[in-house]
Amino acid sequence: MIHLRFKMILGFVEQDGGKVNPHSLEMLTLARRLAGETAVPLHAVVIGAAVEGLGAYGVTAVHLAQHPDLTDYAPAAWAECIVQLIAAERPTAVLAAGTERGNEVLAYVGAKLGAAMAANVTSVTPGENYRITRLRWGGSLLEEAWLKGEPKLLTVAPLSIAPEVVGDGMAKVRPFTPILTDDDVRVRVYGEPEAASGREQPESGKVTLADARVVVSGGRGVGSAEGFAVLEELADLLGGAVGGSRVATNLGWRPHTAQVGQTGTRVAPDLYIACGISGAIQHWVGCKGAKHILAINTDPDAPMMTKADYAVIGDLHEILPALITEIKMKMGRG
Ligand SMILES: Cc1cc2nc3c(=O)[nH]c(=O)nc-3n(C[C@H](O)[C@H](O)[C@H](O)COP(=O)(O)OP(=O)(O)OC[C@H]3O[C@@H](n4cnc5c(N)ncnc54)[C@H](O)[C@@H]3O)c2cc1C
Repeated sequence: MIHLRFKMILGFVEQDGGKVNPHSLEMLTLARRLAGETAVPLHAVVIGAAVEGLGAYGVTAVHLAQHPDLTDYAPAAWAECIVQLIAAERPTAVLAAGTERGNEVLAYVGAKLGAAMAANVTSVTPGENYRITRLRWGGSLLEEAWLKGEPKLLTVAPLSIAPEVVGDGMAKVRPFTPILTDDDVRVRVYGEPEAASGREQPESGKVTLADARVVVSGGRGVGSAEGFAVLEELADLLGGAVGGSRVATNLGWRPHTAQVGQTGTRVAPDLYIACGISGAIQHWVGCKGAKHILAINTDPDAPMMTKADYAVIGDLHEILPALITEIKMKMGRG
């Protein structure tokens, strides 16, 4: 008798230009624990370009989808690859990182299979049905739920699990060619990344928001696009990146890629400096993972001021230049 249940756990590993999204490594850590608890191997699916090093995270086989239409992100096509792999390999569960892409692709998979998909999961207890805990309301509520069906589809809340290297094993690469239709590639990134025609490229030589150890973020209190110059200067001095609230990005003072929050990027730097940001819950969920928060605000009762580790009450356009002068003196650049 052939047992198809508990055959393997499949982790969808996001890559961009051959670089693995770090949140996928967090996802693989939860997936590996789940595979261990259910005594099955952990496989990964990668779409488009090959990636290396997944064996170190406990992956024993990498299913690599290759097709001329898979040169860049195409959510329905990526989901179709996973659906075809599920039909062939019958995993018990498919996990993805709870990133925009991970959630989008797995939601497509759920829609195609008519299966439930749970987003932003932080823990799983396996069984016939999975008992899961997941983040709701931008992380302000933890929900306990049951996830039913086969395969179980879930995404892992970014930054909820530290990625763990468990060895130096090599994962076997198993290429496959999915069958894709024009419908599958209706939504996709056009243009060559090198030509920057299809994408906004980060400024060269600057750290990205997600990687930065220091983030200097500005909100409505900054007052204008030009007002961000002083934030740029401070971020440059500290080797950090500049972020913004939704007000700052909606007003066109900063690009949308700089938005921190529920509908932007979630950051976890060593230091988050919030300048002229009130600290609405939708912003807070994007920066609360920072080790230390310094808030600069004219209003001592602003939520950001009451929650921050350090607070300076005053006009950011007076405080930031003073801070920059002080740091430059300490660095011997004064
Ligand atoms: C579904 C949904 C999703 C959302 N997603 C996000 C998100 O991802 N990210 C996000 O940021 N917001 C998000 N928002 C918007 C959020 O609710 C707030 O409206 C927004 O964060 C407020 O931005 P702000 O703090 O810059 O502006 P405000 O709330 O207007 O605060 C400005 C602050 O600046 C201070 N200030 C003014 N002048 C100065 C000065 N000279 N010096 C120092 N301080 C000064 C004021 O005291 C005030 O505290 C979302 C909202 C919804 C409904």
